[in-house]
Amino acid sequence: MAALQLSKAPKLCIVSGAAGWKEEEQQLLWVGGANVVYRIHGADVPLPAWLSGKLLRLRKEKPFVRPTSEQLVSFNTHFRPLFDPSQTVEQAQVHLDQAVLAACNDQLRKLEHSGKRQKRRDDHLADAEHFGLLITDMTPSSGREFAIELKPKWLLQSPNAPVEAVRCRTCALRARRNAMAHAEVEVHAQQAVCPLSLVEGDETERRSAVERIVRHRYHKLEHNPDVADRQFVTDRLAEFFRTEGLAILKELRRHQQSLDPDGILSCAGEPDERFLRAMTLRDCTLFIKIHLTNNGLEARLGDLDLKMAEKGKVAKWRKIERSLLDEGWYTAEDTGGQAEVGCFLRRKQDSRRQRN
Ligand SMILES: [Zn+2]
Repeated sequence: MAALQLSKAPKLCIVSGAAGWKEEEQQLLWVGGANVVYRIHGADVPLPAWLSGKLLRLRKEKPFVRPTSEQLVSFNTHFRPLFDPSQTVEQAQVHLDQAVLAACNDQLRKLEHSGKRQKRRDDHLADAEHFGLLITDMTPSSGREFAIELKPKWLLQSPNAPVEAVRCRTCALRARRNAMAHAEVEVHAQQAVCPLSLVEGDETERRSAVERIVRHRYHKLEHNPDVADRQFVTDRLAEFFRTEGLAILKELRRHQQSLDPDGILSCAGEPDERFLRAMTLRDCTLFIKIHLTNNGLEARLGDLDLKMAEKGKVAKWRKIERSLLDEGWYTAEDTGGQAEVGCFLRRKQDSRRQRN
């Protein structure tokens, strides 16, 4: 049963009665810290072209979440120009009928009351908002598509790391977090791949990183995936990171470097907007969708919402960097200077030592 009806103008409206909405809780795809994402269903007719392949992103009522129009201007100003349009999750503004917001909030409340919302229970959408964002749907549209979300993180060493570092910024932080909270190991296992492996490593190094990514993704799946499909996904992903994927990561790395060449500890006062852009690019997501029958692959960078230096945020970044340095996580003092082989930096140093 359809829940949303679309007029010719770019405006989303609820079908009269909205009977479908109550039953279709699966339309709510994801509740994040700042936004809620929905899948749009047509009213018993196919979706118009401008809505096909799109998800609806609505902002929450939070002091740190900007109005939707500002979010779009920020994306268009700070991030869209950095990449080819085919390489980012598209964003387009859509006018909202207020009944849409009311229905969505109603649904959130119902899920909350029924105990189905365990996380972020008290969050709701901003009532005063008039717009939503249509974003590229990077979820699998059929059983023959396979989706992977990857956080490329810091694609080069932190400018503040010591020269004798044996861990890169991402691996140093992971080692610290894992040591501090063993319960979080599973959470951070997602980042068990050293980002430098993908962008600096040779073919063998990249292949091994891809295998770890695929293994982790399959481990999370509830159903038992086909072995042949898994091999196909691994091969296709390895090919991607040899070609277009490598180009995307190198471009991302170039921007991370040029926007923050000195690091947070070299900045005495409040960091400027360039630094906030660099931090956003160090925490964005690479969404990859692989078609299992026609070899097709679509990859786009998302989560490109400019980080805000709200209270305490900059101090927190500074504190993390300081602790990585002072507690010896870059130099692996926790393991006597021997970092796990997981970090590409360590392997690079080992092979250099062997050559000399
Ligand atoms: Zn590393």
